[in-house]
This record gives sequence, structure tokens and C-alpha cells, in this order.
Amino acid sequence: MLKAATQAADHRERAVDRPVFPVDGDLDQARARLGALADEPTPAEAALDQLVAAMEPLIVVSTGPRYFGFVTGGALEAASAADVLTTGWDQLAFNATSSPAAALVEEVAGGWLKELLGLPSAASFGFATGAQGASTVCLAAARHWALAQAGWDVERDGLAGAPPLRVVANEERHATIDRSLRLLGLGAAALEPVAADDQGAIDVEALAAALDRGRPGPTIVCLQAGNVNSGAFDDIGAASDAAHAHGAWVHVDGAFGLWAAANPGTCHLTTGIEAADSWATDGHKWLNVPYDCGYVFCARPDAHEAAMSYTAAYLTGQGANGLRGPSDYVLESSRRARGFATWAALRQLGRRGVADLVERCCALARRFAEQLAAVSGVRVVNEVVLNQVLVSFGDDERTDRVVDRVQRSGECWMGATTWHGRRLMRISVSSGRTTEADVDRSVHAIVAAHRGL
Ligand SMILES: *Cc1c(COP(=O)(O)O)cnc(C)c1O
Repeated sequence: MLKAATQAADHRERAVDRPVFPVDGDLDQARARLGALADEPTPAEAALDQLVAAMEPLIVVSTGPRYFGFVTGGALEAASAADVLTTGWDQLAFNATSSPAAALVEEVAGGWLKELLGLPSAASFGFATGAQGASTVCLAAARHWALAQAGWDVERDGLAGAPPLRVVANEERHATIDRSLRLLGLGAAALEPVAADDQGAIDVEALAAALDRGRPGPTIVCLQAGNVNSGAFDDIGAASDAAHAHGAWVHVDGAFGLWAAANPGTCHLTTGIEAADSWATDGHKWLNVPYDCGYVFCARPDAHEAAMSYTAAYLTGQGANGLRGPSDYVLESSRRARGFATWAALRQLGRRGVADLVERCCALARRFAEQLAAVSGVRVVNEVVLNQVLVSFGDDERTDRVVDRVQRSGECWMGATTWHGRRLMRISVSSGRTTEADVDRSVHAIVAAHRGL
């Protein structure tokens, strides 16, 4: 155990200089090293040595400062160390009887999160696996509430025969919203897409018109804080007003963008978020908590609990010691104690540290955009309002080739996307370890790939 913790710490230290992607990793060799299922036991230390030898050459160095793929985020020192403790403590974070510590730390950290993000202090919350899980919980609460308004008990009677439920969302919503709707039995096809502007923010007039046009009745509106490609924000205040005027529930997917609210330099982007009914965000992206960790918030605790809580004769202890049962607010029953790492991240950073993390990543994204836009043949195609930068290197094929070359260089790693019909390099700055020098070194690698073609 001690050796593994030391190896994990050593990996984090070496992350600064290692190739960012395991370009020379050999899958066949690693598979052979993992071996076949053995008949006999192996001593723990030998098993671990074998695992490290097999896997080390394939590890993506996303804890390092030049990983810009997806919106991966780094992993803070205190949060990573707390996650090692979480493994050692091995708490069952089901309720306050199975682990008073896990229940208490979630209660405290959940309160801190609401304060930081400017959400209503009375909102209920849950620690989920990520924004996908969080949105699924939020939309289950929304489904409960909207159908209850129409006199239908969906938890008891299911959806067969229920009043039709409208779901209206930004056409550029994240694909996880569709998956949540599938899982909740509402069906992805039930979703009514609303036009977005050229940056991907919902057209509020089009939203109001769509709500006017359709039949009145139970309705959920899904908004977005932070488009996964461009970083654009829906005007959540205005869109919420339009939705509430139609009696709809407003859900905000703010997987990474909700963190703009915690920084004075970017909080104008989230104006009006407190008016929504539910919010989903991630800890493992911009807060730099290790995987996996997401958060659910709900302005209507009754709906949240009605949709999620359950009990069985042997499962005593919800509400023991005056503590809430964490599993009443998420999809999982037995679950990892995610509160320790979140508490440690928030303690390490404090309010100012969270704001600085967001501010610095945004400034570094602008630095990427300014340097790349100055190179002939390169275009930054989005307004860099947050931490996301979309770059074209000419036609689609050429852009894909540049991305491929950069990824193979091992200098840095960024993915590609298709946005508004074009292939683009997608840069996401979301690690607290990234410095100006890392951006400059990465731009150098990108320009070399571009000029080398
Ligand atoms: C990443 C992301 C999600 C999904 O979050 P997971 O943590 O992968 O579950 C949802 N919405 C947006 C906007 C995202 O960026």
C-alpha cells in the first residue's frame, strides 16, 4: 500500500517531463504482461509490480501540465492524497450508519460548493460519478416534479399512461442530456431542440417561441453553462424567466462552465443561474479532483428526495446522528466516499484559489488563441469566453493531420472535434498545473506540426 502510494506520488511528479501521451505504448506487450487468469494466488506486492510494469507504458499523463484533451482537468495534490486515504479507509458512503465520516464530510463540502457556485443555500445536493450521473438525477427530480404538477405519481405508476412530458433544450446540448432522457424513459426523440447562436448559446426568443407553440403541460427546459466545444453560455437568467413563465422546470448542465460562477472575472457568464431548479457539474474537470466526481444540486429538495430515496428493512440509518443519507441524493446505493477528495480540494484552494484556478485557465486559453491566431494559415474560430479554444488549420483533412502530429509529438495532447460542420482542434485548459511556459511550448509544437505539413 505504501509502495503504491509512493509510486502514485512519483508519477505525479514526473508528469511534468514525460511524453503526454504514451505514443510508444505497445498494447500487445502490455496485454502479455497482464497475463492470463492464474489458478494460484500471487503475493500482493508481486501482483502490484506486475500491474505497474504492464500499465506504466500506457498511462496518459493527464495529471501533467500539457494535457488539453476533453475537459479533463488536473488532480490537485490534496485531493489526490485524500483519494488515496479514501481507498485506505474504504468507507461505504451509503448513509450515516455505514459511515458517519463520509456522510458528514459530504454535508460540509456540499455546503461549501453551494456557496462557491452561488446556488441557493436551501438546495439539496448529491455527490455523483460525474455530470452525466448528476444530470440524470436532476432530470429524474424534474420528471417527478413536472408530472406531480399534472397529478401523476411517476415513481409509483411509471410512465405508461402518464401525461406527455415536453423536454426543450439547446440544439447544442451535451450528448449526455440525451442519454439521461433515454435512461429516464422519456426518450431522446421526445426532445425539442431550440436554435443556438453562432457560438452555441441558446436563442432565448426561439426558446420562448417554442414554449408558446407547443401544448401546455409538464415541461422541462435544459440549459447549458459552458458549451463543450466553444465554452459559450446560455443566457440562463433570461432563458429561465421564459421557461418559468411557462411553468417549466429549468435544468442547467454546467459540467465545467458552472465554475465560472466562482471567479469574479467570469461570474458575469452565469448571471441568473440561481433562478434554475437544478444544476449538474463536475468535480473531476475544473475543480481538479481526481476521477470520478460530480455534483447534483436541486432547488426543490422534496422532488430530489422523492425521485431518489429508497429504503429496505435492513437499511437503517438514513438520518442517523442528524446527518442526511448521501445515497438518497444520487443513483448509487453502495458508493465511494467522494466527499473526502472534494473537501481536500476546497480546503487546499480556498475561495481565492478556486477563483485563481478558473481565471488562470481562461487567461492561458486566451494566450493559446492569441499566439495561434498570429500564425499564417491558422484560425481561431470561437470567441474565447472561457477555457475552450477551437482552431482550424485550413481544410478538415489538414486540421486532422495537424492534430494527429501534435498528439504523436508527446509534447502536449489536444483532441479534435466537429463543430458547425468543420473539423477543428479543440483545446481545453483546465489543469491547475499549466503555466504560460507550458502554453508557449505547446504552441511551438502545434506550429511545428502545421509548418511541417
Ligand atoms: C463533460 C461534460 C458532461 C458529462 O460529464 P461527465 O463528467 O463525463 O459525466 C456533460 N456536459 C458537459 C457540458 C460536459 O462538458
